[in-house]
Amino acid sequence: MIRVALVGAAGRMGRAIESAAEGARDLVIVARTDRPELVSALPGVWTDDLAPVLEPGVVVIEFSNADTAARTAALCAGHGTPLVSGSTGLSADQERAVREASARVAVLRASNFSVGVAALRRAVAAALAAVPGTWDVEIVERHHRLKKDSPSGTALTLADEVLEARGLTRAALRAGREGIVGPRPAAEVGVHSVRGGTWVGDHAVLLAGEGESLELRHVAQDRAAFAHGALQAARFVAQAAPGLYGIEALLTGPGSAS
Ligand code: NAD
Repeated sequence: MIRVALVGAAGRMGRAIESAAEGARDLVIVARTDRPELVSALPGVWTDDLAPVLEPGVVVIEFSNADTAARTAALCAGHGTPLVSGSTGLSADQERAVREASARVAVLRASNFSVGVAALRRAVAAALAAVPGTWDVEIVERHHRLKKDSPSGTALTLADEVLEARGLTRAALRAGREGIVGPRPAAEVGVHSVRGGTWVGDHAVLLAGEGESLELRHVAQDRAAFAHGALQAARFVAQAAPGLYGIEALLTGPGSAS
């Protein structure tokens, strides 16, 4: 039985993972952490202090925020606890902290835990290889009004893969356009963030050529799409060697640390 400590348990993703875990036979949530002010207000096994619950055999699943993601990674490294890391919007230093932790424990980190987005990434790679390099690529993402980071982590993952395929760097990323910006440069990948309502996560990659265009789009209608992936990731890190793994590891099995 895999014992899970859930960081950010009171949040939207925390609650989705809680529901998904209810149907799992091989996995049980043994601790839930969130901010101190929420702990006393909620029923169940709650704590604002993760360290005491990091006993041998426990796996951490973290969906909270960038600061907590980095601190949780360091704590897991110190306790030898495998980690599933899902927060987005991390700074370069915070990403480094997660990478450093992976020298000591297995860390599976992904900007998107849904199977459909993994398929979208493959479809985009295939489309880029099939159309002329002169086609323009733009990414449009939509999320709920409460989302903190823009562009979304998934949009950045998609953009990075397009940039790499085109031999471009992050300098060619254009987040939104405003004013008299002039004609679109060829060496540019645009990312546009729509915020409103309760959209869970919607990513469209648009490829536009002369007189025709192609649109590849994934829509997450329910956070269960990410929650089941996060539980799969917990099963994976529970038996993986230390290292930094991506969502691809769930498709290819252990031994694919980067
Ligand atoms: P949310 O705001 O609903 O939940 C975050 C929770 O973390 C809150 O309950 C908050 O109180 C808690 N928290 C804050 N500080 C904490 C601390 N120090 N210790 C423990 N808990 C703390 O947000 P959400 O929609 O659940 O998303 C959480 C993160 O996951 C965001 O970064 C989001 O972008 C990301 N996300 C990733 C995926 C993916 O597939 N990788 C999918 C959805 C969301």
